[in-house]
Order: sequence, then structure tokens, then C-alpha cells
Amino acid sequence: MSALAHGGPTLAQERRLVTEIPGPLSRELFERRNAVVANGVSTTLPVFVTQAGGGVVVDVDGNSLIDFGSGIAVTSVGNSAEAVVNRAAEQLRRFTHTCFMVTPYESYVAVCEQLAELTPGDHAKKSALFNSGAEAVENAVKIARAYTKRQAVVVFDHGYHGRTNLTMALTAKNMPYKDGFGPFAPEVYRVPMAYPFHWPTGPDNCAEEAAAQAISQIEKQVGAKNVAAVVIEPIQGEGGFIEPPLGFLPRIAEFCKANGIVFIADEIQTGFCRTGDWFACDHEGIVPDLVTTAKGLAGGLPLAGVTGRAEIMDAAHAGGLGGTYGGNPVACAAALGALDTMRAQDLPGAARRIGEIMLPRLGKLAERFAQIGEVRGRGAMIAVELVKPGTKDADADLTARIAKACHAQGLIVLTCGTYGNVLRFLPPLVIGEDLLNEGLDIIEAAFERETAQA
Ligand SMILES: *Cc1c(COP(=O)(O)O)cnc(C)c1O
Repeated sequence: MSALAHGGPTLAQERRLVTEIPGPLSRELFERRNAVVANGVSTTLPVFVTQAGGGVVVDVDGNSLIDFGSGIAVTSVGNSAEAVVNRAAEQLRRFTHTCFMVTPYESYVAVCEQLAELTPGDHAKKSALFNSGAEAVENAVKIARAYTKRQAVVVFDHGYHGRTNLTMALTAKNMPYKDGFGPFAPEVYRVPMAYPFHWPTGPDNCAEEAAAQAISQIEKQVGAKNVAAVVIEPIQGEGGFIEPPLGFLPRIAEFCKANGIVFIADEIQTGFCRTGDWFACDHEGIVPDLVTTAKGLAGGLPLAGVTGRAEIMDAAHAGGLGGTYGGNPVACAAALGALDTMRAQDLPGAARRIGEIMLPRLGKLAERFAQIGEVRGRGAMIAVELVKPGTKDADADLTARIAKACHAQGLIVLTCGTYGNVLRFLPPLVIGEDLLNEGLDIIEAAFERETAQA
């Protein structure tokens, strides 16, 4: 691969397989990787990447794969998007770091201005910037505790909030996120989530009953007056793309408001156009007190934020928030480029169009294959939950086999879910419709093949 090879939007938008997946050069690199990279860092698809852009990822063997993963919902604007590259490159030449807490720079402020403008609600807002989603969630909890002078934090079944000590405690799933890594942070309480597909009395009762159960548990087991924050993903990501039915989130938000609890929406996976709105909370007009963001924010560079009501954000004393790299100038420049791209190319609209193409096609698949328990999602955050036919029992094995079959055909797909039985699709929002349909063809063929074998 020549040193002049570029990724970005000019990369040929085609699937091209020239070797088996992974090819010989990737396999060689994977051996090198295994010798020096810790086993705890896993690999979904062991092809080593040289270029990426638009809807494709190119590997060292010259294969071009269709991207339905966006590096886990990060490169929504496409890899190496032009405005991201231009802004970041220009910033790289001027200076790479000063530490915003030592000597500040404008781009950090500009990102916070945009976060104030774009996140739900028109109240006075402030932000603080960090490096990762987990760090943003940790800081949102710190801020809520400082503001309320309370300690308890309430989270939900199937929730995912990160891999640091506090966020492991907030995360529901043991394997692989928590097993053997305790003890975990105290004063974390988990309550039921509205999961319509699995709700015992059916999806129609789910919103109301789940909210009532969650609120009752908070009141009876914790005491509302002890709760600093409720932290919830408006659509759960790692837990299985679980979308609570209409009415659930407003009920929880209302309860928080009535009891002086800081309502924190973790929009790290759902934010920045992914669900067809700027934020998933917009769908029902929810106005969280604090919003955590990361993944889609900076076009692939590490940047995260906590944004919220100015009086809450200001509760933490000077020096209590921050970090050496938080809001790095190159990452902030990239974010400004990514946000410009989202606006200029109407990426909320692009996400809705992706959903309009994917949902009906996957719906047709669900009619053909009894292994598809449910197709769900909003915008470009779409999932298929796989079950043993005639039941709601998870089929994690089939899920893994279908993902693997897609990978072998040059389609990057991810899985998720508490029971490991959800295929999830997170294409870059700039993906072409032809690639999107080709990816769906591959998924269809994978179902044909893998269910015939079973
Ligand atoms: C990915 C994710 C996180 C953690 O973000 P990192 O950048 O991996 O630390 C937290 N919350 C949600 C909802 C996420 O999807």
C-alpha cells in the first residue's frame, strides 16, 4: 500500500474481495498482534485496515468491505470525512496540545457552544469535554452528586455505560464487561427496563408497567430523596438496541423532576443523527438535565462531552473536573468538521432514509425466517433479535454464525445484547444506497445458508 493512499469520501465505493477473509497479510499481522497485544482486547473481524471512507473499509490484502459498523457508531460522517481531515490537519500544524486547563483555545469553546445549541432543550447549558464515553458518564455522575449532595445512582437492566470502575458498576452485563474485575463502586441500583419484545404481559403494557416497577423499586429500595441521578440510554446500545415504547422515558423523566433527581441521558451511541434526530431524546421531546456524548461527535477522533443545565454543570468546584487530554485541540477541530458535515449533508435525514430502506427489507426477512424474533430500531440504528423458532429463547450461536458468514462475504456487522443474540447495524450515515442494499443481500444470503444448516 503506497504511502500516498488516502481513505475518505473519494475511496472507490465498492465491495471487492480479492482474497479469503481474512487474507494472508491480515493473518500474518494477527499473529504479530497476538504476541504483543493483551488477550483482553478482543477482535470482531481480524482484517487489518489501511484505508476507509464513505461506506467501505479496505484491508492490507486489498479487500474492500462494506461497513455496517462505523467502528461502533463512531464514523457517522464517514471515515476521514473531508471537513474532519481538513480541520484536524490544520490544527495539527498549528499546535497539538496545551491542556485546556493550562492555556485554553477557541475550538474547545466552539464545541461547547455547539453542544449547547444542538442538545435537547433551550435552557442555559454548559459542557465539559473528555476523552471517552466512560469518562463522560463518570463525570456526569460526579456533577450530579455535587449538585444534589446525594449519592445513589439508578441504572437499568441491559444498560451499558463503559468499562472503568464506576461505569462497570453502572453496566448490567457481567460477561465480558465485569467478570473478575470487582469490587465495583457502591451506591448503584439497577431497575427494570422497558424491553417490549420480552415484556411478560406483552409490548402494549410494557411502557407503563416497566416505568411503574422502576419507580416503585427506586422508592422502596433506595428512597427517591437519596438518588443523585438516573442514568439511561434512550435506546440501549450494547444491551441489544432496546427501544423503550413511547411513554416510558417521559414517565421516568417526570419522576426525576418531581424528586430533584438529575436525569442523565447517555446518548453516547444514539447521539449525533444516528437515530434520525440529532439526539434520540428528541423523538419524544425529552429534555434531560445532563447528556453524555462521545462516539459520533468527532468523526473518529477521541472526544466526549457532558452537557447540561448550567446550574447543575457549575456545581462541581474549580479543578474538580477535567483531565490532561480532555477536549484535545485536534479532536475539537475534528468535531467542528464533523458537526458541519452533519448539518451540511442533513445526516438526520440520511439516517431516516437508511431506516426506511433497512426496516422493510429486514421485515420481509422476518416473514421468511422464524429465527428472527424481532426487527427493530430507529434511523440508522437497526437490530435483528434471533430466537429459537416458536419461542423467545435467545439463539446466540446462530447470531454468531450469521455475523461470521457476513464477515466472510465482506460485510462488517456487529452483534450485541445481554444474551448475545442481536445482530446490529450501524452504517455510516453517508453510505450509498447501492452498498446498503448489497449489504442487505449478504445478510439475506447468510440467513439462507445458516438456517438451512441448522
Ligand atoms: C460506548 C458507550 C459508552 C462508553 O464509551 P467509551 O468511549 O467506549 O468509553 C458509554 N455509554 C454508551 C451508551 C455507549 O454506547
